[in-house]
This record gives sequence, C-alpha cells and structure tokens, in this order.
Amino acid sequence: MSAPYPGDAAWFEAMRGFYRAVDRAVSRLGAACRSCGLCCHFEDGGQILFASRLERLYFGATAPAPPANPDGPAELLRSGGRCPFQAGGKCRARRGRPLGCRLHFCSRPAGEFSEFWHRRLKRLHESLGEEWRYAPFLPLRSAEKQAPRV
Ligand code: SF4
Ligand code: SF4
Repeated sequence: MSAPYPGDAAWFEAMRGFYRAVDRAVSRLGAACRSCGLCCHFEDGGQILFASRLERLYFGATAPAPPANPDGPAELLRSGGRCPFQAGGKCRARRGRPLGCRLHFCSRPAGEFSEFWHRRLKRLHESLGEEWRYAPFLPLRSAEKQAPRV
C-alpha cells in the first residue's frame, strides 16, 4: 500500500505501530464492550469524534469504501449523526479507526489512560514534523453543542 503523504511511508508505519500499542494497552485494560454500536451515533450520544490529519490519512489509506451512499456527508446529517462506517452496529473500519474510537468505552471513564495516549500521539506527530491539530472527524448538525470524544 502506498502512503498518501509527501516523502516516504515512515508516517504510516509509525501510525500503525502506535495504534498496535494502543490496542494492546486497551486489551490489557479489559474494558467491557458489548459492541452495541451506540457510541458511534454521535448526535444521539452528544459527542463529537476528533482526529488529527495523520489519523485521517491513515484512516483513508486503510478504510474500506464508505457504504454505497451517493449523498455522502448529507446522509450522515440525516442519519442522526451515525458514523457512515458503521454497519449493523459494527465498525467497518476498525483497522484504521482514529484514537478516539479505540479509547472510548462507556463502561469506564477514559481519564488518565486516554490522556496518556493522546500525549503519545502528539509526540509522534512532533517526531514526524507534523503540526498537531485535532479537528472534527465527521460533519454533524450540532457540533457546537457537543463535547470532544477523548
Ligand atoms: S463502548 Fe458501550 S456504547 Fe460503545 S459499542 Fe461498546 S457497549 Fe456499545
Ligand atoms: S470509525 Fe468505526 S468505531 Fe469509529 S465512529 Fe466510525 S464506526 Fe464507530
């Protein structure tokens, strides 16, 4: 897979290694999730998913094509803010999903665990010479009313 980024694919390998470390740590944490998919309904949950530019690039390089949907983001706006990569309550883009998706568990507060991994992600960006900028991942109707998903 070629990385959609100027230069080489070092950023892609760095992100892949980072997400693997996150997933191992989450696995050790043992946070329960019954895969109901509700937390990917952002407007229902009053949350907003943030991601960095490298996270978006990684997502774009690994995610499957969005579900057949000629309206694109407009469909998301009509769907009550459900992520378009969710299907049947399951994430169709698990491999490349942003850090906010990997760290979100309704069964326990994110707290210091989440802050730790966000600091690591910021440092990774700095090491790659990438400006750290966290921005909403998906368009929502009422983003100004919602809290960051961290
Ligand atoms: S974290 Fe909670 S809301 Fe989200 S899928 Fe798992 S059980 Fe459902
Ligand atoms: S990318 Fe996957 S985990 Fe993240 S919000 Fe979309 S469906 Fe949910």
